[in-house]
Amino acid sequence: SVPLAFFSGIGAGSKLGILFKGGIAIEALQNVKAVVMDKTGTVTEGNFELQRILPAKGFAEEQVLAMAGTCEQNSTHPIAASIMAAVQKQGITPWAPDSVKEIAGKGIEAAAEEGTLLCGSRSLLLDAGISTDDERAESGGTEVFLAVNGKYAGSLIIADTVKEDAKSAVTAMKRQGIVTAMLTGDGPETAQAVAAETGIDEVHAKLLPEEKLRELTQIRSTHGSVMFVGDGINDAPVLAGADVGAAMGSGADAAIEAADVVFMTSAMSAIPQALSIAKATGRIAK
Ligand code: ADP
Ligand code: MG
Repeated sequence: SVPLAFFSGIGAGSKLGILFKGGIAIEALQNVKAVVMDKTGTVTEGNFELQRILPAKGFAEEQVLAMAGTCEQNSTHPIAASIMAAVQKQGITPWAPDSVKEIAGKGIEAAAEEGTLLCGSRSLLLDAGISTDDERAESGGTEVFLAVNGKYAGSLIIADTVKEDAKSAVTAMKRQGIVTAMLTGDGPETAQAVAAETGIDEVHAKLLPEEKLRELTQIRSTHGSVMFVGDGINDAPVLAGADVGAAMGSGADAAIEAADVVFMTSAMSAIPQALSIAKATGRIAK
């Protein structure tokens, strides 16, 4: 009978750390034509490490790091942890800011006696009319830009690594006839490098959380039913807007709540595994 087949799918999933929220989730997965992934924490490890500091003319490396630390000291973004680790390691004392404002998907604005700071994506600075040097992040990395009192101060190159099984997971999905896509708030250079390394078909960069949802809707109208996989850090709206929403790894609580499928593992191979369990369950059910 149908319910029994779904139970076998749920059992097979749980052995691999894949939790389906009931038969409905499995049924929805059987129809998926495209898998859309968030970059940070889904395709990459999400463990950033500071690699290089590139001060602008007239600034020293320690100054750039102190300014970044001033902005990031209370942020929970994965980028912040890597900057604060470097601040601590180099014995740098950040300024005491009077105000700190985090702008989702862009970065941080902070004001202190020493000056007003911007720390984040290139577009955060461009929005304030400040031009930067060319983006220089390499594969899997991200470049964080700094400005003080409206003046470009330099950038920090922060490396993240593509998950070990990312390429083989993408290959497996393609063999299942699935179109793969990646959405990110990060810059196009970094996004393209990750796509090239993993074989992901479509990449869309520089997206704000609400733009990710719009892009997902576009992919659905082109390819059909869509599964979104993310860690839930500012992507809960996309997760809820997909035909199947999946939360990966140590995802945020809100994401686990909103998800149809939860991956207890951070391995990307869980995605093609979930798809093949759903397909096999469908065959038994018929
Ligand atoms: P993703 O889409 O890869 O999950 P986010 O939407 O979290 O990335 O962030 C998009 C971009 O915004 C980052 O690549 C970074 O440039 C910038 N950004 C966001 N939060 C911060 C922060 N706390 N400090 C510096 N930069 C940030
Ligand atoms: Mg994210």
